[in-house]
Amino acid sequence: MRTLASSLDEREIIEFTQQMIRTPSLSGEEANVAEQVAAEMNRLGYDRVEIDDRHNVIGYINPGGRPMVMLNGHIDHAGVGQMKDPFSALIVDGSRFGSSGDAIYGRGACDMKGAVAAMVHAAATLKGRPGLKGGAVVTAVALEEKGEGEGTKHVLSHGVRADFAVCGEATGMRVNVGHRGKFNVRVTTRGRTSHACSPDRGINAIYKMGPFLGRLQTEYTLPSHAILGQCTCTVVDIMASPGWTSPTVPDSCSVIVDRRTLPGETEEQVLAELKQIAARVAEKDPQFRAHMDIVTRTSPMWIDPSNPIVQRVEQARSRILGDQQPVGAWLFGTDAPYIIEQGIPCVGFGPGNETFAHSEQDHVPIKDVIDAARVYAQILEDQCL
Ligand SMILES: [Zn+2]
Repeated sequence: MRTLASSLDEREIIEFTQQMIRTPSLSGEEANVAEQVAAEMNRLGYDRVEIDDRHNVIGYINPGGRPMVMLNGHIDHAGVGQMKDPFSALIVDGSRFGSSGDAIYGRGACDMKGAVAAMVHAAATLKGRPGLKGGAVVTAVALEEKGEGEGTKHVLSHGVRADFAVCGEATGMRVNVGHRGKFNVRVTTRGRTSHACSPDRGINAIYKMGPFLGRLQTEYTLPSHAILGQCTCTVVDIMASPGWTSPTVPDSCSVIVDRRTLPGETEEQVLAELKQIAARVAEKDPQFRAHMDIVTRTSPMWIDPSNPIVQRVEQARSRILGDQQPVGAWLFGTDAPYIIEQGIPCVGFGPGNETFAHSEQDHVPIKDVIDAARVYAQILEDQCL
């Protein structure tokens, strides 16, 4: 009998990727692409296909099977910015982006409609196999780009269960075991208003922020991790009030600090570190006061490389691709931590290179998409038959 990987229809996978790219699907606007995904699942003979009220698509092959393998990807994409022909889904020579072979170009190609197409088709190869024990659930979720896992959390809180999961965000065809998390911290300095024509009578909160930002940039020592890499910290926004439209020295200035974190780093720790920097500013300027609070949190992901699930995915990968690669990590965040939070071990493997995600060169090599589908099919072959 043919292996699952060899029964994939490559042309259909490419066409389905293109079809999804041609359908814009910003976060919150996934209805049309969700319909496409559900229609493809139905066409491929999935046993159960649902679209929930967030436009998450959930498709099962052998819903009662064990083990149940979850393939998770998202169907929304980042904004297009100045990207040229973002919904063209053209097949282009990948060498123009430094990739090899033909590639599919368009917003969401590598993040991550190529992976969703690969997953939808890979799971379908299980259908009707004699001796089928396990099952597959493809969760093609909405609202991932907003960054707090809303789509995946919704799916998991409405009864979708699995024994383990693969997150298909672009890994450059390596197996990824984690990524850093993020705290966005708002830091606010205070001053005193005066008319801007006589600034000496006030205390300018923006000037109070200056020394803090200087020290943040030069004096903040951040931890690093052998696989997840170096933590980073940068300022991503600045606001002042009451604002320049009435000429007033501002008495309040806030910045948003983006601090990437390792697993185990707590809010209290990160706030204490930032307060220490503020304390050094205050030593030189007794008037300096800064208030800090965390405004958003994104979880880090980590699964130990020795976890048997990681090894199963690595084995399937090297069986199909014929080589071995050390495990890696993403720079960006994914929905994987929200899957792990629910007690479902999750590993990353997906087509394309994350450096092109959200970029004007968003594309995915066709060979990656097909190989990823073959690897997903191999995982299902190893686990479910
Ligand atoms: Zn993504």
